[in-house]
Amino acid sequence: MRLTMLAPPGAGKGTQGEKIREVYDTPELSTGYLLRMHKNNRTPLGLKAEKYIDKGELVPDELMINMIKDQLKKPEYQKGFLLDGFPRTINQAEELDLVLEEHGPNLDVVLVLDVPKDVLVKRLTARRTCRKTGKVFNMEFNPPPPNYPHELYQREDDKMETVLYRMKIFDNRTKPLIDYYTKKGLVRFVKGTGSLDEVFGRIREVLDKIRESS
Ligand code: AMP
Repeated sequence: MRLTMLAPPGAGKGTQGEKIREVYDTPELSTGYLLRMHKNNRTPLGLKAEKYIDKGELVPDELMINMIKDQLKKPEYQKGFLLDGFPRTINQAEELDLVLEEHGPNLDVVLVLDVPKDVLVKRLTARRTCRKTGKVFNMEFNPPPPNYPHELYQREDDKMETVLYRMKIFDNRTKPLIDYYTKKGLVRFVKGTGSLDEVFGRIREVLDKIRESS
């Protein structure tokens, strides 16, 4: 299965992505995670991307498209994948279409996670990330186990002001993709509020149907 999730920051893309990978054996490709690894390792891409990430701005399309092209060539993504955080602009979506045309079938489904803004802000500002593994916790809804061994930190871009800015960018740059993929018949809306398991239950209903029909 080849899928992507369109959702504002804090809607649960990462957490639900992990569950999708476990159940459907679909390797996850998270552009935010990859960029943070580049940033932490001080690679040339990480150094270029850093200022955008910290301000909550989108990294320029050209850098993102090259990064995703390199990733999608890897053997582990040939049978299917789950994109988390890509595409985020129309230009990225058009480029993704071209890359996928070259390598086989296009996307099977685009999941849109629907979460009201006030819930998103609450979730994002309570979010903490593990410095060692990149794993994301939420101090309110999904706290780390007691005696968790690694240091947790608040991402620069999870601070309130930046969170609001990232939401504006989502509305302006990424939301138009819902139309783009609706025209292709690929969009399925999923209510993203409730417990992690409730949301995943809704995602399963959608994905099971897609799997049966393919
Ligand atoms: P995320 O973890 O998906 O919220 O991504 C964190 C940050 O990485 C975003 O705020 C952007 O600065 C950058 N980023 C991730 N994916 C993309 C993308 N597809 N296009 C541009 N910037 C991205």
